[in-house]
Amino acid sequence: MDLDPQCLFCKIIEGDIPADIVLRTANVLAFRDITPQAPTHILLIPTVHVENAAELAKLSPTLIGELMIAAQEVAKSEGLDGYRTVFNTGASVGQSVFHAHLHLLGGRSFAWPPG
Ligand code: 5GP
Ligand code: ZN
Repeated sequence: MDLDPQCLFCKIIEGDIPADIVLRTANVLAFRDITPQAPTHILLIPTVHVENAAELAKLSPTLIGELMIAAQEVAKSEGLDGYRTVFNTGASVGQSVFHAHLHLLGGRSFAWPPG
């Protein structure tokens, strides 16, 4: 199935739940995180339901690449000179929404290693 009616991010794709959308392409949707962890915190998702980044990479290496290209475009439009991208894959590392999403964070300094 392309979308999962039970999935929060599929509902955002469908327009059933509002979101502050910053970019929409044929295959990617980007919107602001509801609980931003940085001045810019945007989520980039494929407009097909897939559980996590690992499954997305297997489904379509092209599509996971499109998320990175879209992140670069959004970072530019947000005026970021650097940015951090994160996929949380699995509940044990903090994944809470099981529709693959790329976090784009910027606008402040970041520690390394991440917490
Ligand atoms: P995860 O923890 O799965 O890597 O990231 C899920 C992200 O989705 C979190 O950063 C969380 O703040 C965000 N989020 C959860 N619910 C909503 C929502 O209804 N709208 C938006 N825009 N973001 C959400
Ligand atoms: Zn979904």
